[in-house]
Amino acid sequence: MIVIMTPGIGAASAEVEEVKRQARKYEGIETNVHEVVGKIRGVTEIYLIGPTATVPSDDFEALPGVERVIRVSDRYKLIGRHRGQVEAVGFEYRGIAFNHESFHVIPGLCAVDTREHVDLTFAALARHGIRTARMGAYKPRTSPYDFQGHGKECLPYVFELAGKHGIQVVTMEITAIKHLDEVRAALRASGDATGVMLQIGTRNSQNFELLKEVGQQKELPVLYKRGMGITLEESINACEYIASEGNRQVAFCLRGVKSHLGDPHRNLVDFAHVPVVKRLTRMPVCIDPSHSVGGRVEAADGLLDIFHVTAQGIIAGANMVLVDFHPAPSKALCDGPQALTLDELPAFLDDVAIVRDAYEKRVARLRGANVRAA
Ligand code: PEP
Ligand code: MN
Repeated sequence: MIVIMTPGIGAASAEVEEVKRQARKYEGIETNVHEVVGKIRGVTEIYLIGPTATVPSDDFEALPGVERVIRVSDRYKLIGRHRGQVEAVGFEYRGIAFNHESFHVIPGLCAVDTREHVDLTFAALARHGIRTARMGAYKPRTSPYDFQGHGKECLPYVFELAGKHGIQVVTMEITAIKHLDEVRAALRASGDATGVMLQIGTRNSQNFELLKEVGQQKELPVLYKRGMGITLEESINACEYIASEGNRQVAFCLRGVKSHLGDPHRNLVDFAHVPVVKRLTRMPVCIDPSHSVGGRVEAADGLLDIFHVTAQGIIAGANMVLVDFHPAPSKALCDGPQALTLDELPAFLDDVAIVRDAYEKRVARLRGANVRAA
């Protein structure tokens, strides 16, 4: 059960105290107060956790300062979008907003190989005013004989160079609990030159101990990549694991699902689920066209398939685009065949801007129509 306070009533108010006092009357009910910072307005929400089935909502609805009470099903209590909840929620990290309205492109190396390639990539992004990048240091690989990433050895120069080029957020996959400490230690040692959004890769999508661990810290936000062989509901539940441990700064990334029906793409592109995830949850939604398509194939119209699927995700309302770029894909140690080159960055960004603009116009037209009809 969620008690939503009227806007302007803060977490430390007498009204919230009164709700907590009321909740204490019921055995086994605990309260968890959360200030939700929305784009349109901020509200205080009080979560009643425990056996709430027999707790009457009227008792709470009658209290001063209470706007309404929502009964939520057990499914994704925290990250789910429940009827009547404020529309736009998300989080802000290092001055950058991530929510259902925001839009960011996150290009970069699938796997860090050399300092020079990291420098060249960040420099190209900075020239285009991009402050979010991807960099893989810990790579989960199918074959044990493949390059596993430089691990903590590369973190000092990745963070230093990010700081040098004004990159504020580096998304980086961690595959083990100890990597979290390594990333945090390297960030400290760099003087917090940048920030990290921790990626949970598709192969760890149900590694519950890792999910709990990234949930127990609130310093670094999390980019959760959909499990490639589990249902959407199972993936969303995995995000609820992170949130239920305390960290609600979670973004959801679609990256295709494993199926021979996706051939000749690496995965079956699942970007039709962008609006689905935005309807079911309050998480910002990211798309990863590179790991979905898996190659540089060109369509009959001359556009690469990666451009086409990117457009499909953006036109459906994606909030982030995680995409592989490399200064010299033939020298990449991981996923070179699917990387776009830095020379292709301007064309990619132009294409993205055209489609994002079209998406915004579609939504504005609908809102205009609704206003006229009201
Ligand atoms: C990646 O983004 O580098 C990656 C390995 O992605 P996924 O977990 O989606 O395969
Ligand atoms: Mn990859």
